[in-house]
Amino acid sequence: MKRSFTNNTKYLLFGFLIGAVIFALGFAVFKFLQNKPAPIPLTSATGTATAPLPSALTFTVTPVFAPTETATPTLAVTSTPLPPEGEAFSIGQSVQEKSLDMYRFGNGPIVRVIIGAIHGGYESNTATLVYLLRDDLRNGSIVVPEEITLYLLPVFNPDGFYNFLNQPEGRGNAHGVDINRNWSVLWQPDWDRTGCFNYLRLTAGEQPFSEPEVIALRDFLLANKVDALISYHSAMSAIFAGGQPEPDPASDSLARALSAASLYLYPPVNDPGCQYTGQLIDWAAAQGIAAVDVELTDHESNDILINRKLLEAFLAWRR
Ligand SMILES: [Zn+2]
Repeated sequence: MKRSFTNNTKYLLFGFLIGAVIFALGFAVFKFLQNKPAPIPLTSATGTATAPLPSALTFTVTPVFAPTETATPTLAVTSTPLPPEGEAFSIGQSVQEKSLDMYRFGNGPIVRVIIGAIHGGYESNTATLVYLLRDDLRNGSIVVPEEITLYLLPVFNPDGFYNFLNQPEGRGNAHGVDINRNWSVLWQPDWDRTGCFNYLRLTAGEQPFSEPEVIALRDFLLANKVDALISYHSAMSAIFAGGQPEPDPASDSLARALSAASLYLYPPVNDPGCQYTGQLIDWAAAQGIAAVDVELTDHESNDILINRKLLEAFLAWRR
């Protein structure tokens, strides 16, 4: 009994050991298999599943980012509209695709514009004057106040200006349109020519804003929230304020300030009684822009001495 007990115990112990070893091996194999799932993604099934995903993501993600990247430069262009100071930049083209070149001086919140040669070659001295004022601003003899951004457009009607320099034929654009009668306020297809320029039978255009020059300037004035403008003419030695049928108060105030600085007549008592239709300054006044026509003394003089003073008054004027 004792022996058999001992033997039995031995067998039991041995069996237990074998069992323990088998259990341990089994456990080890189980653990090993349990850890296997980590490398499981490397199996072909998961591998092929994961492989297309990143590539698919890469393809969908790239186009999403691509427009953002192209949108950023576009936004940068519109949010920083300021061209280099004193250098020409184009705001559009004439009928004959001549560039409408503008110049910027200063960087303040109040935006002002000076326009030359709306009547092209017939009033070419107005372009000469605006170029001379540009040179004064470039060389610092006239300084733009901190709160002002000043834009100069020396030749608003380049077709008339370059095709018929110093000739009455140069008053209209290449469509034969008077681009000072193509604006939407009081626009008329025709007008009483008594007391008006009548050397040529210019038109007012097919409808308001039919002319590319007018569209370009309108869009520029609105986009830049322009506060006040001067449009130069010759040769009445006078100032007209925008606003119909009565001058608008801001334009009237500006006209008075410029007349006091220049001795150009305001109100223009020498007005020959021409019927004014579709004019830039009347449209501008209707948009809340203080707007005046300044008429030089004749068709030849650039009136630079007078207009240096007038420009300083323009820059100093506040509503
Ligand atoms: Zn004119």
